[in-house]
Amino acid sequence: MTIVLIDQDGPLANFELGFAAKWESRFPKEIFVSLEERRTFHIKDDYPPHLREHVESIYLEKGFYANLPITNGGLQGMREMENAGFSIYICTAPLSQYENCVLEKYTWMEKHFGKDFTRRIIVTKDKTLIKGDFLIDDAPNVEGIKSPEWKHILFDSPYNRHVTDRPRIKWDTWRDILPVSA
Ligand SMILES: [Mg+2]
Repeated sequence: MTIVLIDQDGPLANFELGFAAKWESRFPKEIFVSLEERRTFHIKDDYPPHLREHVESIYLEKGFYANLPITNGGLQGMREMENAGFSIYICTAPLSQYENCVLEKYTWMEKHFGKDFTRRIIVTKDKTLIKGDFLIDDAPNVEGIKSPEWKHILFDSPYNRHVTDRPRIKWDTWRDILPVSA
């Protein structure tokens, strides 16, 4: 059985879109860094220092994570992978300010994938400790105290395109990378 670990924010929950909507309504006069202009993994780092507290206030707010939209193709892609026989788990690193984030990650999964699927959520700050064959993650570098067992597949995003040493997918191309005979 092939175990595929899937990161939640990025591949499934559309953090960028959720952030953009809130930012433009809350701080309409401030600069907005569009997804195509994003260059660093942590959104805060793509904003000038004087705006970083504002940025943080958006995603720390109660309800932010629970109400993120789902990515295009995320639902269908997950179903296709399940149907192809992969054993899928969600592997997600919560914010250190976990108060709303952790609970709402569960709420979000239930809303989009059903209650049963919440049993497949692994919440960890260190994904290298988790066993699996593949990890699909938009983070350019997934590091921790171990050398990971899984192979990192990048979920394509503008802020990870400088990384060229790993396979890269979007939801419509996962079959090009993952061995479907699993
Ligand atoms: Mg992510």
